Order: sequence, then C-alpha cells, then structure tokens
Amino acid sequence: MLALRPNCECCDKDLPPQAADAMICTFECTFCRDCATNKLGGRCPNCTGNLVERPIRPAEKLAKFPPSTQRVFKPQGCGQAA
Ligand SMILES: [Zn+2]
Ligand SMILES: [Zn+2]
Repeated sequence: MLALRPNCECCDKDLPPQAADAMICTFECTFCRDCATNKLGGRCPNCTGNLVERPIRPAEKLAKFPPSTQRVFKPQGCGQAA
C-alpha cells in the first residue's frame, strides 16, 4: 500500500491524498508535477527511477487507510541553485 506522503520533497508543497499533481517513483519518493517536470526531468533524484502520477485513493478508503503524515523534504537533491 502506498504511504501517500504529504508533501513534495523539492519545494515542500502540500500534496494531500486527493492531489492530482502528485508524482511518485517506485520507492514512493514524492514530488509535485511542477518539480517532477521542470526541475527533475521526470526522474527521481534519489533513485533515478521514473516518476509517475500518484493514484488517488478514494475518500471513503482514507479513514481506514490513512495517508502518511511524515513530511520528507530534501531540497538539496532537487537540482536547483546548485
Ligand atoms: Zn515541488
Ligand atoms: Zn526515488
């Protein structure tokens, strides 16, 4: 099951479970679409895997299977201002 991390690792933008612009890699490193496309070129900076749209968990499942609240923020890996 996906953890559904609550934010973008690059810019710390909130990405709630229903966010349509959340992108993840196979390890579920999580980014907003803006960072994934414009900063990262579609590749995860942590594992070099491809980033795909995160599926949206239906609202009625979130009560039983709640999203992660643990924020991961690693702007140094995101290729800006280096
Ligand atoms: Zn971002
Ligand atoms: Zn990754």
